[in-house]
Amino acid sequence: MKNRRDRLRIGHWRTSRRISSGTSGNLAHAAALTRLRQIKQRFARYIGRTYGHLAADCAVCPTPCCADAQFVNVNIVRLEAEAMLETLGRSQKHGPGTIQAVITRARAAITKYGLTEHGDTFATTYACPLFEPGVGCLVHWKAKPAACIQHGCYERWEDLPETKTQRAVERQVAALDEAVHGTPSVWLPIPLWLVRLVDDGLPAADITTSTDEVTDIRPTSCSVETARTLK
Ligand code: SF4
Ligand code: SF4
Repeated sequence: MKNRRDRLRIGHWRTSRRISSGTSGNLAHAAALTRLRQIKQRFARYIGRTYGHLAADCAVCPTPCCADAQFVNVNIVRLEAEAMLETLGRSQKHGPGTIQAVITRARAAITKYGLTEHGDTFATTYACPLFEPGVGCLVHWKAKPAACIQHGCYERWEDLPETKTQRAVERQVAALDEAVHGTPSVWLPIPLWLVRLVDDGLPAADITTSTDEVTDIRPTSCSVETARTLK
């Protein structure tokens, strides 16, 4: 496999941004988390089906982008962070203790990379605390951001996925977040939202569990669990 720098990558993960913070809305968390997962799974299936065969195989990547502190600038909304903590807290494979390890890495990332809630939150990059060496993305199956689902390495520019669908998915995610929390969404780097939720006393076990069937979203990028090959 070629070195990552020899291939074409989608630029920094970037998404639109709206500012505010919140009180509770009317939509129940269980329904919102279920809907969020369905939206992500449908998008992941589309990306995998349409572009997966053209992208590099993340499973054998020698330099995973998720750990690249000069590259990752993913911003998420509160509901996505809640879905991440729920996923970590209920993981039978990795165990609930994983939350503590992720939060420790998130706090370190905030300090090390100077992440703040002010200004252009997309301008500062960081190594993602959800990336586990030898494992990949710890929320790959259930709570990966749309920008991460979209992202991949390609040999040719013309093979890169279109971005219109990602934008539509992000608008859906923001609308869902607003519906459940009652105010416009706040987009922040992953470490900031995870730490804010934990510091606000929101352990994953307190998040109402969604009840939908877990669908395989394997054909997406950025995880050693993916199985894409480079043509
Ligand atoms: S998208 Fe996959 S192949 Fe490309 S840098 Fe990231 S982990 Fe490596
Ligand atoms: S794919 Fe997972 S580990 Fe990688 S940047 Fe996105 S959330 Fe973090």
